Amino acid sequence: MESITDYLSFYNKRRVIVASLIFAFLLNLPSFSAAYTQANHRSFQRSIVDFRSRLNRSFKKVKRKKTKYIIVHTSELGLKLTQRVVLKGKRLRNGQMTSGGHTHYVISRNGRTYRILDKKYEADHAGISMWNGETDISKISIGIELVGYHYAPISERQYRSVGILIDILQGVYGLDDRAVLTHSQVAYGKSNRWFRKNHRGRKRCAKNFIRAKAKLEPTWSYDPDVRSGRLLADSQLFRIFYGRREYYTKADDANIISKSNTAWSIAGEDYDSRTTVYKFPSGHIYTGDQISDKIGWNLVPAKTVVLLNQENSISLIKRDSPIKTISDRFTAWSFAGKAYKLKTTIYFLPSGRIKFGSRISDWDDLPAKTRLIVGYRGPYKLYKDRSAYRIASHEYKDRKTIYYLPSKKLLAGDKIDDFNQLPTGTLIFLPNT
Ligand SMILES: [Zn+2]
Repeated sequence: MESITDYLSFYNKRRVIVASLIFAFLLNLPSFSAAYTQANHRSFQRSIVDFRSRLNRSFKKVKRKKTKYIIVHTSELGLKLTQRVVLKGKRLRNGQMTSGGHTHYVISRNGRTYRILDKKYEADHAGISMWNGETDISKISIGIELVGYHYAPISERQYRSVGILIDILQGVYGLDDRAVLTHSQVAYGKSNRWFRKNHRGRKRCAKNFIRAKAKLEPTWSYDPDVRSGRLLADSQLFRIFYGRREYYTKADDANIISKSNTAWSIAGEDYDSRTTVYKFPSGHIYTGDQISDKIGWNLVPAKTVVLLNQENSISLIKRDSPIKTISDRFTAWSFAGKAYKLKTTIYFLPSGRIKFGSRISDWDDLPAKTRLIVGYRGPYKLYKDRSAYRIASHEYKDRKTIYYLPSKKLLAGDKIDDFNQLPTGTLIFLPNT
């Protein structure tokens, strides 16, 4: 019995597929563009914010001769700094500044899309790269930057925008879903301490990009340059892109060092850069260029947190206070990781408002100078007959006990000289242990 019904449903399914293929053919629908409607395209086109006039004037515009690929990146930064870097340029390892033009589009966490460079020009986005034997992918591709990190989930609104944008571009250039690749798929590096030969893994960009959420078919089933022997595979990236698909469930903690998640797996070529910061479980902080001499790469402990693109900000992290401050360089994700949206992560906005993580829509939504504490409960209000000691008991002077004064001052317990001078209405927050 079972086998007959199975056979019938298989037969029916096949009939439906054949019928719909004929239907699509009769309507002359292009096979590569069925995911979004014309109305989706139009309203998205209207919503694009044009930033082309803000591009660095010294960027040389060169018309692209061929368009074979669309390359998806994650910017490893918040929105403000992403925009500044792609428009104005970035500092290279040798200290020189580039002249911007590092992408065609930027998509913010809320889905808003910015046009940085007209799509007919070459953007300098892929660096040393190769796909299917062809090198210098920037010259034959369009670049899209998603604001965010390769180890934090891409937002649903970003998936919607990038899906529609890719759909539009595929129509313009006649590209199928195989033409859509991530930077981590196409970048390659010269031999280094981890590899004897040219290899994948130089970039980790958008390795967390879930294609189905952008309504894209699965990527290539193999890496053509690894298969042909032109490049060595990077084991982690190989697993993600061409192995089994279970990877993403664990992707949240991927900027934390473990046996299977090395400095190389997290930072790629920037593993030993001055702008990559290693925060050890002991609280010690090093930049990538210090590890080799001071520690040794084999001795970086598990649970070390790795932060990319931390130019000039090491002194800010070194101040190891429980009170953190959001800036262009440090987002809520930098400090709290996926705990940014928990009730125990508490934000103090420049306006004076207090917001619990459970009320935050996204980690990139908070203005610079917002302060936060991670792993806290409260507030407990101070009154005349309810002293700091009654609220925090013997911990009241501790550096982990946080006081929020009506003047918007946020102080740790060990920074308060006279507890009798604390004004009524001061709020106390206690570590959630
Ligand atoms: Zn990239």
